[in-house]
Amino acid sequence: MERKIKVIGFDADDTLWVNEPYYRETEDSFYELINEYGDKESIIQKLLEVEVSNIELYGFGTKAFMLSLIETALFVSDYRISQQKIGEIIKLGQVQIERVNEILPDVEKVLSELSKKYRLIIASKGDLLDQERKLKNSGLLQYFHHIEIMSDKKMENYKQLLAHLDIQHHEFLMIGNSMKSDIIPIIELGGSAIHIPFHTTWIYEEIKFGNLPHSRFKKVKSISDILEIL
Ligand SMILES: [Mg+2]
Repeated sequence: MERKIKVIGFDADDTLWVNEPYYRETEDSFYELINEYGDKESIIQKLLEVEVSNIELYGFGTKAFMLSLIETALFVSDYRISQQKIGEIIKLGQVQIERVNEILPDVEKVLSELSKKYRLIIASKGDLLDQERKLKNSGLLQYFHHIEIMSDKKMENYKQLLAHLDIQHHEFLMIGNSMKSDIIPIIELGGSAIHIPFHTTWIYEEIKFGNLPHSRFKKVKSISDILEIL
């Protein structure tokens, strides 16, 4: 990365801490509750459809997920699901919200190093309260100059963020696990990006993409590899 980077944006979920696997675990428990209404693959597929159709109304995060779980249960059971089970589904979501997200290895070391040379920010999408709670629990707040909880992570959203930070696109580097949300929009905007894949990705975040410019895009195996690039 030869550019003069001033600000580094970090994605939070599955970049700084574990997140997506908790959704998969909740989905497993959800299926156990309603398995009399169909096979797992088709019920989880229906759940995905419901979630995606609700994004415009609810945005991202666990509360939105809970509403989609209930809607899916009503749909697949043809409204026969018991009120007690609806209560158990709500409980599953509440348990997920209350989990303390495990911080990924080397995150604190990397943030500590980079914060000496760059302004670090978090650019995360999701439910405001949800993300604020996770950040507070993480103990990582001290490393960041600014926290941006975005309703979505498209090029337009990043454009507004850079204007707000009063920096040019070539001064910004974004780091994250999602090609769709953390990398492609930034490259399109003219900025730089580093992709750190995580073992579990929500299907909605998967995307096909062509060749990306080598001068502005890197892919690394783990967060500590970043220290060799920057
Ligand atoms: Mg992420």
